[in-house]
Amino acid sequence: MKVLYIEDNPFDADLTRHELRRRAPHITLEVVSTQQDALARLNQPSGPGYDVVLSDMRLPDGDGLTLLSHIRKQDLPVAVVIVTGSSDEEAVVAALKAGADDYVVKRADYLVRLPATLEVAVNNYRTQAARRMRPLRVLYVEDNDVDIDLTRRHLARHAPHIQLDAVNTVHAVLDPASGGNPIDQYDVLLLDYQLPGMNALEVMKGLRPVFGLDLPIVLVTGQGDEDVALQALKLGAADYLVKNPGYLYRLPTALENAFHRAQLAREQAALRASEERYRIISELTSDYAYTYRVDPDGGTELEWITEAFTRITGYTTGAVDAHGGWLSLVHPADQPIALRRARALANSRADVSEFRIVTRGGETRWLRDYSCPIWDEAQGRVVRIFGAAQDITERKRAEEALHRLNAELEQRVADRTRELAQANEQLHELDRLKSKFVSDVSHELRTPVTNLKLYLDLLERGNPDKHAHYRHTLKEQADRLSQLINNILDLSRLELGAAKVQFIPVDLNGLVEQIVVAHRPLAESAGLHLIFRPDPALECVRGERNQLAQVVTNLIANSINYTQTGQVQVSTSRTADRACMQVEDTGIGIDPEDVPHLFDRFYRGKQVAGFDIPGTGLGLAIVKEIVELHGGKIEVESRVSIGSTFRVWLLHAGCA
Ligand code: ADP
Repeated sequence: MKVLYIEDNPFDADLTRHELRRRAPHITLEVVSTQQDALARLNQPSGPGYDVVLSDMRLPDGDGLTLLSHIRKQDLPVAVVIVTGSSDEEAVVAALKAGADDYVVKRADYLVRLPATLEVAVNNYRTQAARRMRPLRVLYVEDNDVDIDLTRRHLARHAPHIQLDAVNTVHAVLDPASGGNPIDQYDVLLLDYQLPGMNALEVMKGLRPVFGLDLPIVLVTGQGDEDVALQALKLGAADYLVKNPGYLYRLPTALENAFHRAQLAREQAALRASEERYRIISELTSDYAYTYRVDPDGGTELEWITEAFTRITGYTTGAVDAHGGWLSLVHPADQPIALRRARALANSRADVSEFRIVTRGGETRWLRDYSCPIWDEAQGRVVRIFGAAQDITERKRAEEALHRLNAELEQRVADRTRELAQANEQLHELDRLKSKFVSDVSHELRTPVTNLKLYLDLLERGNPDKHAHYRHTLKEQADRLSQLINNILDLSRLELGAAKVQFIPVDLNGLVEQIVVAHRPLAESAGLHLIFRPDPALECVRGERNQLAQVVTNLIANSINYTQTGQVQVSTSRTADRACMQVEDTGIGIDPEDVPHLFDRFYRGKQVAGFDIPGTGLGLAIVKEIVELHGGKIEVESRVSIGSTFRVWLLHAGCA
């Protein structure tokens, strides 16, 4: 701010300069000692170049008032502040009347207040100047043409920025045919109280709505009508003037004030409407906005935040501060994101982050936060942070559900692919087993067929003395072939008919008894004891009788076949949920290397001298197939030269 100070006392001038430099370094002060010097500077062709003139009342070549009137007459665009001694009150009033913007009285501490006084004076002057720049359009309703004329001439002289139109009646205002301007083109309505046929109160009551509530009305009343004027104020008149001598001097100010008050009311109403809109938006939206002030030491203080913050977090801002600041709301897992965001902002980088917060109710919610730091060039640092945050919990939940679904789908696809691969593998394995079975079968069949051919040939051409032996061997091979074919058929029937088998309760003790009795002659002819020890508490088992009979038969036959001396003991027993049938012999036993393969098709154990038994190698394979079909299991224990024990476990069924 540039100040021209007119002061002939060098001591006062120095003191003022010193104080201003100390208290208000932005104010530059130029000092001249006479009115003449001051006018010379103010009248420079380039314009005055000052914001305010600070003039002492007493000057060597005149007084402050003369300088003031020069400035105002020449319309110089500067504010004027007069400095007076403490006893110059009349002079102060005169100065203000003459257009001074303010004054200071030279008291002990006046220099302390001087910077503020100068600022206010400059601001007032600029506001007034701005007002004067804009013409004020006034419609005067007055039946007295002399008054109209006087008013018009006064305003032309003292307030030329006021444009005055005049009509004699209220009706002329309202009648568009009268040729006047529409009422809404005026800034102020100046209304004489006593109009022909209608006084101002009636006008206010009846016509106010027509004029529009916005248009300010200033009333001019005769002397003695003040009470009525007060009534008019109650009805919404902006001001009133009593027609006493000199009232025209107050008219410009009254008109301007009425206009500016109405303007202010309009602005306030617009502001209220905008605040209301903002309030509605901020209540409806789930987003919130905020500003933080950043201190020089980097600390932050919340300046302002919208309501939605409390709706989302459940906290008031005060509660958050007490709680340990905003950062304390951030979910522990997302603290690093929040700290990164704070660092970015401190380094003047805008930031968009997504993180979780924990609400007062303990719920985890997602926020998307946009923050923008405001850099102050003069201070060389971030001074403020503007931000807006959006509650994106629902979106995040939808995303998470989608991720989960995707992961589940991927897992399911992976599982199905693995299952398919396994099924494929099994198919391949099945194919492999089938071809192996076919090649095994053809191999097994070929041996007896070859033997048959060989002995038939010998029977034709061989030694007749050995015919009996040839015939015996032929029969043996034919039996073996027949046995083999029966076993192969049994196996394939088991595989093909698995689904059709009907399980019923079978009396296992009774079944075993029958088979033991049937095998006893064979055992005894081999010099063996065939013993059966049934468990009388044994329940029926769930199964197919013929198949179970085959299991028992195969195991007893094997034991008789592979036992030289001693006994074969068959027994039954039970556990809580299973029935057990055991065949124990004192035979040759099984080589440990053979045990894992005993139940394979066509597998025969190592040959033992004296036990060249022409088995098919399918007996135990059939046993295993049947037991597993029944949901049971089979196990074997054996020691070479001591004996073997086969145990079959089956499911109880309860006898009918
Ligand atoms: P096979 O018709 O050859 O007996 P199996 O499938 O019934 O065929 O038996 C397979 C092999 O298991 C036999 O070759 C034999 O070596 C062995 N084996 C079966 N039962 C006994 C047993 N009780 N004692 C010793 N070895 C046995």
